[in-house]
Amino acid sequence: MNTGAIDDLPALADLAVAERLWFHVDGAFGALTCLSPELRSLVAGIERADSLTFDFHKWLYLPYEIGVVLVREPEQHRQAFSLTPEYLVHGERGLAAGLWFSDYRVQLSRGFRALKAWMHLKEHGVAKLGRLIAQNVAQARHLAALVEHESELELMAPVALNIVCFRYRAPGLDGPELDALNQELLIRLQEGGVAAPSSTRLRGRYSLRAAITNHRSRREDFDAMVAEVLRIGRELAGARG
Ligand SMILES: *Cc1c(COP(=O)(O)O)cnc(C)c1O
Repeated sequence: MNTGAIDDLPALADLAVAERLWFHVDGAFGALTCLSPELRSLVAGIERADSLTFDFHKWLYLPYEIGVVLVREPEQHRQAFSLTPEYLVHGERGLAAGLWFSDYRVQLSRGFRALKAWMHLKEHGVAKLGRLIAQNVAQARHLAALVEHESELELMAPVALNIVCFRYRAPGLDGPELDALNQELLIRLQEGGVAAPSSTRLRGRYSLRAAITNHRSRREDFDAMVAEVLRIGRELAGARG
């Protein structure tokens, strides 16, 4: 998830079948591209998963926290968690009848997180959420194009989804010095309040990392971020003299 890269799901599914392994897909972000008809092919093979996780709080625009896990075989799912001490004995009738959450996960007592997901889907619908996800991916491509257009900026990884890794490149600077410049640049960018990307390291090199998951973001926001990165980058490079 450093860069938004997607594993070769069909190959992993084949391997899992051949070796009789459980095929779990960590689709925290990526699984949600399924909601966009134009992006769905990126995660082809996901439908073969034995279990799948994704987060409504990551790319479905809901507040923290609401992670989801889907398990293909309900009976296998139940057997993995079900544990019935005397005081939790299930019944056919009365209060002990019905669904016990502790049969499907560690917690028994839990908040009603599902309500916000349900209302979100009812209010906005899957098609609109898919359009917003596609919009974020288009914005990531726009940002990547801006970065590639500027000789003082460097794209640090291919852009597969909604994550853009890039850095400022000062002439004649490399290695730890360039890392340090970009570290300071990021802090000034965040403190200045123009934009708040995070960071990562890719093959040892420090990188700014913009993960685009906001339905309110506009293209101009990315133009403004790039202008600010250039401004701060030049300031820092100039200060080094
Ligand atoms: C964010 C993330 C997680 C952690 O998920 P949370 O539900 O936010 O704790 C796991 N895997 C990947 C790939 C992620 O991006």
